[in-house]
Amino acid sequence: MQTGPLKKTALILLTITIFIACSESPTGRNQLTLIPDGRMAALGENAFEEMKQSRPVVTDSRINGYVKCITDKLIKQLPGKQPDWEVKVFQNATPNAFALPGGNIGVNTGMLKIAQTPDQLAAVIGHEIGHVLADHGNERLTQQLGVGVVFFLVNLFFDEPGSIEQEVLLRTLGIGTRVGVLLPFSRAHEREADILGLELMSRAGFDPAESVRLWQNMAERSQGQPMEFLSTHPSHESRIEKLSQEVDYYRKLYQKALDEGRKPQCG
Ligand SMILES: [Zn+2]
Repeated sequence: MQTGPLKKTALILLTITIFIACSESPTGRNQLTLIPDGRMAALGENAFEEMKQSRPVVTDSRINGYVKCITDKLIKQLPGKQPDWEVKVFQNATPNAFALPGGNIGVNTGMLKIAQTPDQLAAVIGHEIGHVLADHGNERLTQQLGVGVVFFLVNLFFDEPGSIEQEVLLRTLGIGTRVGVLLPFSRAHEREADILGLELMSRAGFDPAESVRLWQNMAERSQGQPMEFLSTHPSHESRIEKLSQEVDYYRKLYQKALDEGRKPQCG
């Protein structure tokens, strides 16, 4: 069968796109991310707007101030030009938290019961920001839709952010409303978000050892009942052990923040 000129051009373009899109994550892992950053940001914004309208948002200024204080300290440590990050606390007893491309963070009130100190909440939010920093949503969406489909969607038909089905999008970004239908982040993604989260929290002056306690709390609380957060962020057996081994390294960054008088007073 002869390849028509149009097909040939599309093939060449696709090859170039993949070549350009094959990049390195912040920890040096090879990744394929075909969706332009601006599109990912628009998708994240869209999903967040929808959530703010459909879910009850906490108005208690004490709770909002507490979560914002921690988030602000973490965001200050992010590299490059940052969007205006927005954080919302949702009135929901399910322990969950997420960060979305475009600079959006959501924390359920239920998570405040598991992350019991400012440093533990910084570990959760740092981990979530890690997923965004390393472009995991883009990588997952690229895999989910398939290289060819993404190419055509992005470049030909994909004018409105809403044209990707909301359900696919929410699952891919690691958020959703029901346990069991969500796509778990892979082991590699979890590991990477852990590392980026540890670095972020330590630089911001939060004790990295608290990340170990946080995952211990998660493990204890999830016994006997499925937890939405753990369904999207599976706690692989070795996670707590690996985190404990790495704490020493990150403690130096933490100590530096303390020496410079930057211990956050958020609690
Ligand atoms: Zn995760």
